Amino acid sequence: MFLYQSLDKVFPRSYTAKVFCVAFIGTHVPLICMVMVVLFRHGGIWGQIDVLAPLLLATLAGTFATLWSLKAILVPIYKVQSTMESFAADHTAEPLPDIHSDEVGSLMKSVNSHFSLVTSELSEAMEAAHTDPLTGLLNRRGFEARTSEQCMGSILLIDIDNFKSINDNFGHDAGDDVLIEVSRVLTESVRTSDVVGRYGGEEFIVFLPNSEHRSSSVIAERIRRSVAQKVHIGPRLVTVSVGVAIGSRSKTIPDLIPKADDAIYRAKREGRNRVVISGFAVV
Ligand code: GH3
Ligand code: MG
Ligand code: MG
Repeated sequence: MFLYQSLDKVFPRSYTAKVFCVAFIGTHVPLICMVMVVLFRHGGIWGQIDVLAPLLLATLAGTFATLWSLKAILVPIYKVQSTMESFAADHTAEPLPDIHSDEVGSLMKSVNSHFSLVTSELSEAMEAAHTDPLTGLLNRRGFEARTSEQCMGSILLIDIDNFKSINDNFGHDAGDDVLIEVSRVLTESVRTSDVVGRYGGEEFIVFLPNSEHRSSSVIAERIRRSVAQKVHIGPRLVTVSVGVAIGSRSKTIPDLIPKADDAIYRAKREGRNRVVISGFAVV
């Protein structure tokens, strides 16, 4: 590192300049030696200018050719640098060439393999951070990330009725099984373009893209009926209350969620196991 550190004091911002400096000095050694010999033997250079001039021109030509070639041969290093900067900025980068076996080839291969390792670990971490481990549905963060670019659509909030008493009477594990069953029924009841998430303890959320009043209420009612028919614990049926907020051009998902939440409270007040559409009479 000594030479590197010494040159770093002169060219702190450029590795290319450091390499050029070494090459420049190296290519000028024969010329300097020749000038010294001529000076020592003949006491001046003008008498030998016919020998020195071609040597000077050859040295200059050699120097330019060397610097130009060095710049070209340093390209893989520049590529590694720009690839790492691009990866740091947005976690994407074109893979570097991996067909070379020298030191720079190994550097490019190891950068590639580090990128693929980081990318796969990052996507696993992202997946885990966005997934509810019990039901496998998106969690609140995952739901928000998945729907952040969506505009028009409806929101359904689905809350299991009297869930606390299921836990109290049948145990927490049985309660977990009910959550898993309800999430399965939810997933089966919606279209593949719809987004389903577990929004809180025993509360689920569904985003129905491009859905208006009629299709949203049909899907909400299908969910309510399927849970009531398919999910039970021992002899006891499990039911859900569904609050629906219908989207419009001016309403974003964060605008719709409190409306769906109000609708759920209405459904609970009206006796549970029902669908309430925000702004409409109880279904
Ligand atoms: P309501 O019909 O008004 O919604 O009543 P509820 O009993 O469903 O609602 P409440 O908010 O009183 O109780 C929700 C319960 O859900 C309380 C909490 O212990 C339980 N819970 C939250 N998360 C989990 C979970 O992951 N597993 C289990 N088994 N229970 C959970
Ligand atoms: Mg609740
Ligand atoms: Mg509940």
